[in-house]
Amino acid sequence: MFPAWPPQWPEIAESVAESIASGNWGRYQGPAAVELADQLCQLTASKRCRLTSSGSVAVELALRSVGVLPGDQVICCGYDYPGNFRAIELLGARPLLVDADPAGFSIDPGQLDEVSDSRVRAVLVSHLYGIPAQIASIRSLCDRRGWKLVEDACQVPGMWVDGRPAAAWGDVGVYSFGGSKPLTAGTGGALLTNDDSVASKWNVLLDRPSNAMPLSELQAAALLPQLLRLEQCNQIRHETTQFLLNAVDWLRDAVGDLQPVCGATCYKLAANVNAAPGSVPAGVPGSVPAGAPGSVPGRDHAGAPGSVPGRDHLLAMLVARGLPVGAGYRSMHRSSDRRCGKVGQLGRCRILGEQLCLFDHSMLLATGEQRERLAAALKLPQ
Ligand SMILES: *Cc1c(COP(=O)(O)O)cnc(C)c1O
Repeated sequence: MFPAWPPQWPEIAESVAESIASGNWGRYQGPAAVELADQLCQLTASKRCRLTSSGSVAVELALRSVGVLPGDQVICCGYDYPGNFRAIELLGARPLLVDADPAGFSIDPGQLDEVSDSRVRAVLVSHLYGIPAQIASIRSLCDRRGWKLVEDACQVPGMWVDGRPAAAWGDVGVYSFGGSKPLTAGTGGALLTNDDSVASKWNVLLDRPSNAMPLSELQAAALLPQLLRLEQCNQIRHETTQFLLNAVDWLRDAVGDLQPVCGATCYKLAANVNAAPGSVPAGVPGSVPAGAPGSVPGRDHAGAPGSVPGRDHLLAMLVARGLPVGAGYRSMHRSSDRRCGKVGQLGRCRILGEQLCLFDHSMLLATGEQRERLAAALKLPQ
């Protein structure tokens, strides 16, 4: 129904074979890694790039390099990639959660403005599911308040927001090349900045004297050809999304106004199954309480108390049809006050944590007849 992922493109095999034939694969720092860092700088209009072994360590290094210290507060969204919350904790800092934007999946700038804590050092914001964060507002708020900004662009390589590349709005931007990401080397990440003093902190943290958390030359060789196809793949993902939204009524309702913009990298397509009253699709027993006969046990990170059975039933049905779909992240709104601070009730985070279904970007690479079959597989009994 859709192309294989990771991509099986011949140019990836050729690039890796060339690295092996030349012996470059056996070097600490080879030409593919240098070239990749250079191209990522161009893609994100950044002066400095440092490749890392994962996006997760890149987030942690980003926070350290903007000066986050034990006891500091770092603002993040109560609904975010769970590793970001952990990265803050691992530094001995304390997450301060704000609610998600009612018109998106990232920090609500209005809520951010409410924060009055003097221990705040930095803001960590992610662009999720092809919907850009309100990054220009967040940037100017950070400037006004003297907060550093770490911009997590792991899901959106190549995306532009308000006239600037994602990752270039932050004091540091972060990319991931994890196995599920639109640019993949199985594992890997990158740090990006225009601030030389930040970049020299990366060197202090990583050069010991060999690179402590590197992306390998072979991984860089596998990534280079993918950069050339990024724009084309984004275009296909956009067209497939439009096709499916036209063909599948419940999906159109569930995606609602949060359609990924054209040109965005859509890592996952997010559908909110309770977006509108009665929107649990026909054929999905949305009113069955969790644990009742016929209900599907909660999935790992979605099995939180209060998760909506409608969502889990729908997911089970779609997974049984071979569709690459899963639940969204668990919302952090219930985390104990010992672990984090909170601004307000985080009601939007709770809803996102309970209701989002995420369709993988590999599905969105379907073209032609694959697209038709995909739409048919998404349709639900009336
Ligand atoms: C995947 C992801 C990460 C972590 O990247 P890894 O390379 O898997 O460690 C961080 N933030 C976001 C938003 C992500 O999607």
